[in-house]
Amino acid sequence: MTASPSPRPSLSIVIPVYNEERNLAELIRRVLESCRTLGCVFEVVLVNDGSKDHSAEMLAEASRQNPREIIAVLLNRNYGQHNAIFAGYGVSKGDLVINLDADLQNPPEEIGKIYNKLCEGYDVVAGLRVPREDSALRKIPSWMVNRMIRQSTGVRMNDYGCMLRGYTREVVKAMLSCEERTPFIPVLANSFAHRTCEVEVSHAPRAA
Ligand code: UDP
Ligand code: MG
Repeated sequence: MTASPSPRPSLSIVIPVYNEERNLAELIRRVLESCRTLGCVFEVVLVNDGSKDHSAEMLAEASRQNPREIIAVLLNRNYGQHNAIFAGYGVSKGDLVINLDADLQNPPEEIGKIYNKLCEGYDVVAGLRVPREDSALRKIPSWMVNRMIRQSTGVRMNDYGCMLRGYTREVVKAMLSCEERTPFIPVLANSFAHRTCEVEVSHAPRAA
């Protein structure tokens, strides 16, 4: 008798959304397309962070049309990107969790690279943006911040600004149970990580 292959770990994609009505249709289409190639059970958790445009209605409608793959979390007001992500973690159920931004700066086609590294046994997988599509005015402070965090956490990572990142359920659970939360998820995650890695991902200018 041959053992059936063990199922691939299930995946939650968590995306914070603030005034992204012009990006949502393309975002959802590309994220679903990308996740469907992975061969695992997945859910896409989109958290509306008190948008002032039509993002909330669009997310509610997307979830009504595709309740098996899309979960819409509608926050009553604007709490900020990282708090919105925490709200998404709270409802997510996957063995693995991957974050990305809603503005298509993190190409959804790169989700598979992060997923595969998590499957290899890393518990925090960070995207490393190449080439950066930001102005020098943004790159210099970002380089300084990366250096400071590296010195304070002891974890060597080159790109703390990239929000295309993946975590195991254990790391997400640990972050959720933190009483004192750094509002900055990449730093918090690294304080619970045993095995981290960075993978090169492409990066686009904000779509809209
Ligand atoms: N975002 C959010 N709440 C906010 C601001 C931003 O949920 O108060 C979301 C936004 O929709 C996007 C992500 O967080 O998905 C990153 O935001 P943005 O692109 O403005 O940041 P940057 O690219 O400059 O880091
Ligand atoms: Mg952005």
